[in-house]
Order: sequence, then C-alpha cells, then structure tokens
Amino acid sequence: MKIVVLKFGGTSVGSIYRIKKIAKIIRQHINTKKKVIVVSSAMSGVTNELINKSKQISDNFSPSEHDVLVSSGEQMSCALIAGRLNHLGIKSRSWLSWQVPILTDGDFKKSRITNIFKKRILKYLQTGGVPVITGFQGVNYENRITTLERGGSDASAIMIAKYFKAEKCIIYTDVEGVYTTDPNLFKNAKKIQKISYEEMLEMSSLGAKVMQPASIQDARLNRINVYVKSSFVNKAGTLITKRKNISQDNIITGISFTKNDSKITLLDVVDKPGVAASIFEPLSKNFINVDMVVQNISSDGKQTDLTFTVKNEDTIKTEKLLKNNKNINFKKNLIKKNVSKISIIGVGMITTPGVTYRMFKALAKNKINIQVISTSEIKISVLIAKQLIRKAVKALHKEFNL
Ligand code: ADP
Ligand code: ASP
Ligand code: MG
Repeated sequence: MKIVVLKFGGTSVGSIYRIKKIAKIIRQHINTKKKVIVVSSAMSGVTNELINKSKQISDNFSPSEHDVLVSSGEQMSCALIAGRLNHLGIKSRSWLSWQVPILTDGDFKKSRITNIFKKRILKYLQTGGVPVITGFQGVNYENRITTLERGGSDASAIMIAKYFKAEKCIIYTDVEGVYTTDPNLFKNAKKIQKISYEEMLEMSSLGAKVMQPASIQDARLNRINVYVKSSFVNKAGTLITKRKNISQDNIITGISFTKNDSKITLLDVVDKPGVAASIFEPLSKNFINVDMVVQNISSDGKQTDLTFTVKNEDTIKTEKLLKNNKNINFKKNLIKKNVSKISIIGVGMITTPGVTYRMFKALAKNKINIQVISTSEIKISVLIAKQLIRKAVKALHKEFNL
C-alpha cells in the first residue's frame, strides 16, 4: 500500500473557502492512486483564542484541562475537511487522536508521540476511506488528552508518516517552502530547494516558525523526507532530508532570528562553585526558558558578571526570583528588554574558516552592536537590538550571497 501523508497548517484551513481549496488538493493526490492520510492543524487563530479563554478562567489553569481545551481546534477543522471530502463524493471521516489511538508520553502541553496504533486506520484505508487525523493531540497512558507543544501538528504528520511507512510526507503551509529567512519579513529571502535535518533543526529552534523543532528531530531520527510546500500556489517547495542527499554549495544555508527577548546581567556575583546552578535552578522550576548564557572571567577570582537571555514576558518573574534567591549574592542587575538573537546556520561552516569574522565584520560595517555571542558547529548566534533585525538580515544575506 503506497501511502502519502498530507498535513495542512492553520492558514491552509483558515476559512471555509480555504478548506474547500485544500479538499481539491487532497482529491488530486487521491487521483494518483495513492492512499492518502490527512493531518490537520486548527483553523488559524483558534488555538490562540482557546489559550486566551483559559487565561481568563484562571491564571493557574490546569495543564490537563488546557490540553483538552486547546486540542479542540483540531477536532473542528478535521470534521470540516472530512465533511467537504464527503461533499465531493470521497469516502472520508475524522479521527481524533484517541480514536486512532496516538499514544504520547511526557508532560501536558509538551508531550511526545511514543506509539501509533495502525490497525484501525489501515483497515479504513483498505476500504477506500481517507482518514483525516487531528494533529497536535494525543492520548497518554492514563487515557488523558495531551498536546504536543505549539506547532505540533508537524510532529503528528511526521510520526504518522513514520508508523505507516509513508512514501511521502508533505507539509502544506502558507509560504512556498523553507526560505533563507522569514519571507514575510524579508522580501529578498530565497526559497531553499533542499535542506539538511541538522540545518532545519537549528533554523527552527532559532526562530524559523515554518517547522516545529521537535518534529524535525523526529524526522531526522527516523530518516523521513519531509516536503514543505504551499497550499496556495502549486509550486515546488523544499525537501528536508539527510545531508548526503544535498550537494552543498553555500557556506550559509539560512538566517533565523527571535523576537522579544530580554537580556539580564548580574553584576559582581560572588564567584564560587555552584553559583550558576543556584541562579538557574529557581528559573527552571518556574518554567522560565533561559537561552544564551555568558559568564565573564573574574579578574580577582572573587566576583564575576553573568549575562543571560529570557523571553520578554518572563522578565518580571525572573527579576523577582533573582531578588528572592537567598543562595546568590550580586551587587546589581541590569535588564534590557527587546533584544533579538540573530543566527546564521549552515553545515558549510564546518569546513570553511573565517565565517565568524565575516559575520562580525558585516554587522560592524552596518553599525550593529553585538551584545552576546554563542556558537556551535553549524551556527553562530549574536544578540542585537530588536529594531536592527531587518538591517542585520539584509547585511548577512549580502555577505553570504544568499
Ligand atoms: P502553519 O500554520 O502552516 O503550520 P506556521 O505559521 O507555523 O504555518 O509557519 C509558516 C510561517 O513561518 C510563515 O508564514 C513564515 O512567516 C514563517 N517563517 C519563519 N521563518 C521562515 C523561513 N525561514 N522560511 C519560511 N517561513 C518562515
Ligand atoms: N494548532 C496548534 C498550534 O497552533 C498546532 C499547530 O498549528 O501545528 O500550535
Ligand atoms: Mg506551524
């Protein structure tokens, strides 16, 4: 049985008009005689609306009820898609994750798929039906509804492709593929034909929303080729695949950036073993994600400065936790909101010397001040003022001929 998995994102099913359009895309795939499994996200905006509702009920809304609530958006879109397929004379029905079932493990709001039972879906496919499966949701071993982190229907599609040994997994979205940087922000961004799992993972972890980072980990571990393309125009998209399948010619493949970060610096922290752990333990316990961390060498060995970044919305909570932390001593803390992390990503930098210098030089030429630097094998990230993002992306695009 040759199976294709088609995943539709929020904008692709964002209105009745769009749902009618994507039903036609599904029909085209059915006409190629392949068995089709559809996975859908909620209509755009719906998940956010549901989250807002939970916040109005309580600022301490139960995580398990959160998952029941926010996963309901996918129930609606899948029923509408199946209904439209029926309207076109195609046998189809919606499948909620517990009906499949799709089993997950881990905490509410950020579960991961650990098993998918295939029997019922395979039987349905054999009868000629088109299953429309809810993305983003699962059910855990206690039989509770779970969700997979924001953007998680990408992971649903990829794991379904894995379990059903699908020939193809296509992620239909609102842009034509993966671009060198966000095409909605930078009109000169170029569509990438092929990108490696490693690069895509870095790009999405560093801010490129087009694919959910966890989903790329799943794709990489299971060696699943993922095609990203538009549901609006029928054009070639991007293939996310293993490095071997790509002939590399660019040093840098893409540029990602985050928005709305805050930089926190603790001055004159008493420097002793375990101090960094004491600073970050309460933050981690309060689910505050710490990103870039830099600790200066103390000249006298007694005191040091420590800088790190958190999301803007976590700034006040972070400041409070630092002030109330009895295990650390520091003179002063400095907070700078609205900074952004901009990163260049590319496996080409492993073998090409001088990339760091070229990045810094290009930013300097444009009078962009670098506040914090962090690097890994295939990426270099720097922290800059948020209002300079556009300028920086442009400069780096030019420097690396993207
Ligand atoms: P969907 O609802 O289909 O899952 P998302 O909104 O999650 O779509 O992701 C698509 C969006 O990702 C695009 O509209 C685009 O603005 C954004 N994006 C950010 N970085 C990139 C990039 N490098 N390439 C393509 N899109 C990007
Ligand atoms: N609807 C979910 C979200 O908005 C999942 C997804 O879009 O993939 O995060
Ligand atoms: Mg998405």
